[in-house]
Amino acid sequence: MIPRTDGLCQTPSWNEAIANAFTSPEELIDYLELDKSLLPAARAAASQFGLRVPRAYVDCMEKGNAQDPLLLQVLPLGAELELQPGFSVDPVGDLAATSATGVLHKYHGRALLITTGACAVNCRYCFRRHFPYQESSAYLDHWQSALDYLRSNSSINEVILSGGDPLMIADSRLAELFRALEAIPHLTRLRIHTRMPVIVPQRVTDDLLGELDRVRFRVTVVVHCNHARELTAAVCCVLQQLRESGVTLFNQSVLLKGINNDLKTQVELCESLFEAQVIPYYLHLLDSVQGAAHFDVSREEAQLLYQQLLQQLPGYLVPKLVYEQSGEISKTPLTL
Ligand code: SF4
Repeated sequence: MIPRTDGLCQTPSWNEAIANAFTSPEELIDYLELDKSLLPAARAAASQFGLRVPRAYVDCMEKGNAQDPLLLQVLPLGAELELQPGFSVDPVGDLAATSATGVLHKYHGRALLITTGACAVNCRYCFRRHFPYQESSAYLDHWQSALDYLRSNSSINEVILSGGDPLMIADSRLAELFRALEAIPHLTRLRIHTRMPVIVPQRVTDDLLGELDRVRFRVTVVVHCNHARELTAAVCCVLQQLRESGVTLFNQSVLLKGINNDLKTQVELCESLFEAQVIPYYLHLLDSVQGAAHFDVSREEAQLLYQQLLQQLPGYLVPKLVYEQSGEISKTPLTL
C-alpha cells in the first residue's frame, strides 16, 4: 500500500463529518439561503425518510439555487408524499430474494450482504428507503447467518457488501468481516458498493486501504456518483489511493430527472469518472420506489439520451443502461 501523505483527504475525520452532517431541513435551507416556503414540505417528507447530508457535500452546492443537482438528490420534497401507481416499497423484490438474515441471493455466483442500514447521506431516490433494516441486516447476528449461508453454497464465488453503506462500519469490524469471508475457500472476489468515497472521502483511511491491499480477494469498489460536480479534488485523491491499493473501480449512477438527464451532464460525468480512473459501469433507470416518482425519466427519453451518448463518447466510456426487474436472472439492458 502507498501511505497517504496528502492532507487534502484527511480532515475532519469521517466520523466527525458524519456526526456534523445536516439532519434538519430548517438548518439546511437557512445555510443554503433557500426560500423558506420549501420548509413545511421538507419537514413533512423528512418525517418519513430523514434528511442526512454531510457539510462538505453541501458546500459543493450553489447557494440560493433550489434546482442545484446536488441539492435535489438530498432535499426532502412534498412530492415524496404523493402515492403513485406502480411505485412500491420493495421495487426490486429484495424481500423475496432474502435467503438468510441480511443475504440477498438473486444472481448466479454472487450474493449480496446487507451489512448495515446506515448511510452517510440519505438519497431521496434510494430504492431501499423503505427496507426493513431492523429485521433484515446481516450485522444483527454479527454476520453468523450470512457466513453460514455463504459457507454452505459453494456456487457463490463473489460476495457483495452493500447496505445501507458498508463503509459506515468501522475499519476494525470490517477487517473482522474480511477475515471471516477469507476463511470461506470458494469465495474469490469481494465487491463493495459504497457512496462514501464520493460523499465523505476521508472515509478512505490508511487502515482501510491497508486491508483492501492485504485481503486475498480481487477487490472491486463500485462507487455511486451521479454528477461530475461530485468529483471534487478530495474525492479524486482517495479514488487514486484506492486504485494504488489494487482496487478495481467502477461507478454506478441513477438517471434522475432534473439532475443528470441531459447529454452534457452525462458526457461530463463519464469523462470526469475516467479522469479519476473510474470506469462508468451502470446507468440505472430509477427503481420504482414509493416516494421517488418525481425523479423518474421515461424509457423513451432514456433511450434517446443513450443513443446520443453512444454517438458522443467512445464505447468504453459509456455505461450500460439497465433496469432491475424483480425475479430476473440479471440486470436487464434497456434495448434501443
Ligand atoms: S448511499 Fe446508497 S443506500 Fe444509502 S441512501 Fe444513498 S442510494 Fe440509498
